[in-house]
This record gives sequence, C-alpha cells and structure tokens, in this order.
Amino acid sequence: MKILFAASEAYPLAKTGGLADVAASLPAALKRLRNDVRLILPAYPAAKERIEKPKTVASLELPGVHDTVQLIEGTLPDSSVRTYLVDIPSLFERPGGPYANTDGEDWSDNPARFAAFCRAVVAVAMDRAGLDWRPCLVHGNDWQTGLVAPLLSLEPIRPATIFTIHNLAYQGNYPWHVFNTLNLPGEWWNSEALEFYGNFSFMKGGLMFSDWLTTVSPTYSREIRTAEFGYGMEGVLSKRSDRLLGILNGVDNLTWNPVRDPALVKNYSIRNLKHKVRNKVALLEEFGLPVDREALLFAYVGRLAYQKGVDLILDILPELFDQPVQMVLLGSGDKGYEQRCRDLAAQYPEQFGVFIGYDEGKAHRVEAGADSFIMPSRYEPCGLNQIYSLRYGTVPIVRHTGGLADTVVDATPRAIMTRTATGFVFDDATPASLMGAIQRAITCFSRPPVWWRKLVVAGMETDFSWTVSARDYIALYKDALNDQGITPTDSEQGADAG
Ligand code: ADP
Repeated sequence: MKILFAASEAYPLAKTGGLADVAASLPAALKRLRNDVRLILPAYPAAKERIEKPKTVASLELPGVHDTVQLIEGTLPDSSVRTYLVDIPSLFERPGGPYANTDGEDWSDNPARFAAFCRAVVAVAMDRAGLDWRPCLVHGNDWQTGLVAPLLSLEPIRPATIFTIHNLAYQGNYPWHVFNTLNLPGEWWNSEALEFYGNFSFMKGGLMFSDWLTTVSPTYSREIRTAEFGYGMEGVLSKRSDRLLGILNGVDNLTWNPVRDPALVKNYSIRNLKHKVRNKVALLEEFGLPVDREALLFAYVGRLAYQKGVDLILDILPELFDQPVQMVLLGSGDKGYEQRCRDLAAQYPEQFGVFIGYDEGKAHRVEAGADSFIMPSRYEPCGLNQIYSLRYGTVPIVRHTGGLADTVVDATPRAIMTRTATGFVFDDATPASLMGAIQRAITCFSRPPVWWRKLVVAGMETDFSWTVSARDYIALYKDALNDQGITPTDSEQGADAG
C-alpha cells in the first residue's frame, strides 16, 4: 500500500510528546511490513537540520500562502522512512517549538500555519506536487491535520482517509473571523461540518470527514464517547462510533530497549537485572541525591500538566517522605507546578531530585534507574512512559484510565502468584487513592526481593512492539480501501518498501 502519514511532529525531527514517538515508529513498522509509507511534516528549523539526505524535490503554490512552498525530501533518521518537509519559511522558520514560542505561548497564526500544512498534504496526496506518487490512503494525526480529510472530500476521486486522535483535549478551535481568513468553503460553517459550539474546529473536521477514526487505546476509545472525557466531541464520536477503533500504541524497540540503550551507564536485560542497580546509583548521583541502594526510588517523567495528575504527586510527597524512599522528577510545563517541584526539592534535598526541562537522555536514564514510575493521569489516551517503564523493569503505579488501564495489570495477590501482575493500579484521581497504591508498592518492595522481581520480569516480558498494532492498522487500511472501492494493486508498482 502507498500511505501518506501526516503529523505535526515526529521524533527526532520535532517532539513535544507521545505523538512524535508514534509518528516515527508506526511508519517504520508499516514499512517493515512492506508498505510504501511516507511521512510528511512541517519544515521546522530543527527538522531541516536533522533530516537525513535532504534535497528539494518540488515547489508548489497554495491558496492563501504568499511564499512559494517547497518540499524537501529526505529520510527519517534510524528508520529509512521517506519523509517530506513542507517548507514555508514565513510560517515554520522561527525559534521555539512546533506550536509555541520560546515562552511557551501558542503562535497566534497556528490556524494559518496548519491550514497551509493540510493543503500541502492534500497536494501531495492528489499527486499535484510533481512527485509522481499517488497514495491510496492518507493517515492524519491530531488537530493539526484536521483539515486534510475535509479538503480531500472536495475531490471527485480521492485516497481513503484515516484520522487518529492522540489527545482529544487539544482541538484547534478558533472563532469565526479566523475561519473567514482561511478560504474554506462557507458551507463548512455548519454543525454537521466544522462548526463547533460557535467556533470552528480543526479536530472536528478530522472527526466528521475521515473515513475511519482511531485512537490510541481501546479504553480511551470508549471514554471519549462520554461527557467526562469527550471535551464536547462526545456527541460526534458517539455518532461515528461504528467508525471508531482503539489501537494500542507500540513502542520502538530500537530506541527504548534497556539491552542496547546508549544513554544508560550499563545495559541490562531480564537475565542480568543486577546491572539495573548500576543505573540506579548513577541516577541518584545525576540528580544530586545521596545513594541508598535499599530505598525505593520513585520517578516521574512527563509534561507538568493537570492532565497528568502532577498535583496529586506533589500533594502526597510530604507524607511519602516520612518513609525511607526517594524520588526523581523530570519535566516541564505549568509554571506553578515547576515552582512547587523546586520548593519541595529544596525542602527534601536528600529525598527529592528535580530537573525542570526537557532532556531525552535523562528520560531514558530515569526509566532505567528508578524502581517504580508514578503516572496518576486524570486521562491518558495511551501513555508511553508506563510502557517504557515496563520495558525497563521499572514497576508502574498508574490510575485506571485510558491506555494505562490497557497496559498495566494490578498486583493483586492472585495476579502476583500467577505472574501476570505488572504494576499497581488505583481508581480515583485523589491524593488518598494514589497514596494507597504507593503504599502497596512500598509493602511489596519490602518483602523478599522475589516478590518485586515477579512484577519486574512480567512487565519486561510483555510484548509492546509495534508488530501487533501495525497489523491492526493494516487491516483497517484494507477495510478503508474496500469501502472506497480502491484497490491497492496499482500502487504496488514502484513501491519502495522493504
Ligand atoms: P504525552 O504525549 O501526553 O506528553 P506520553 O506518555 O504519551 O505523554 O509521551 C511522552 C513522551 O515525551 C515520552 O517519550 C517521554 O519520555 C517524553 N517526555 C515528556 N517530558 C519529557 C522531558 N521533560 N524530558 C524528556 N522526555 C520527556
């Protein structure tokens, strides 16, 4: 199959969260299954620097865009996935992140930036960019690609469309006057199209117009049809529930693998778990904490956001630190949480190590060095850090929601005996409920080491590779093509898969 995979970030070209990991590793897995999958994303400065073997292969004119748009073709590092960067200097050539400036404020012209990106995706999808390549299917991701399916719906003959929700809370909603500047068909200002409670919504465009919708875990696919998790889209999603599937994210076995991870001081596997302790000692030193091999070391890595339940962790720390345990935290985001973290680190210098910032290597070392990873998210579409933790033998403590519920098996006595338990799961987003789960972890850790080891080994043995999930996507792609009466056979000629 010829597949165009559109995303606003892909590791290592640009990354703010889990989407980047998926947008890099899913195309690579699809390619291994002999599909001609090509990635397309905006040409941010870092992406232009990091892409391998770049060359400009096409220029195009897009409605509403004053610059000439250039397409840079190259390969995604470590994967050989062919990648197009949409180069529009006035929109993407600037410092800061993919969506926000260096102070973390969203770029005010984000609607224009991502509308232009969507138009470029459509030009490539319709083979109007002079690449002589026509995909049979376009796979968009999150609101930044939300206009791709609506724009393609205007074409008499078009590729099939899939749209994946990685986080429904970010919808790209803007007022009428913004809609008015984007040269979109007036009839789309309609509740059956892009209009959404008096605004227009990129996300709703993707949800209404794509042939199939997916999200990144089965539990989240059910949750988002309810008012609690739907962020206003629950009606749309319930209506389209026969076209909505939950497919769990896999993890990239090359990037996240304790056996070969170059960021670690010592690699390890189930067979030589004693080397994990070397990583623990190094991690404590890296975070400036006194080395106590016996003390249970908890960790958190991730955005410091209300979604992640960071406040629940901070609320329980004084009580937790009454016991001989330590914790390291790596993250950035909400300035209030950042300050609370720094204050608590100053208050508990022997027990709480904090690094405010974004550091990929540190994230790997935390996963390897900690004993247990705390992830009390209020909602979690899939969550990758708890899966990385399982792979690294770092027992996760998670709230029963979304992908956390689908990936971690609670350590009931029975589940421990049968070697199926992989972590500690709790229900309520309250400090007390989180503390209850942490207390169970502390009790388990204080038993003879064989108990804890059972959890570690069961987690490390669980298969979270992309192989299974990528096959689920392929099955879905085939259904989508069948619905459209598209046969992938003509696209096999010239495919460069393998
Ligand atoms: P989300 O996409 O909601 O932010 P995920 O758990 O799905 O959460 O993915 C988060 C990804 O971002 C993981 O790869 C994680 O290691 C990484 N990450 C988040 N914050 C940081 C940080 N401060 N430093 C390094 N990596 C981080």
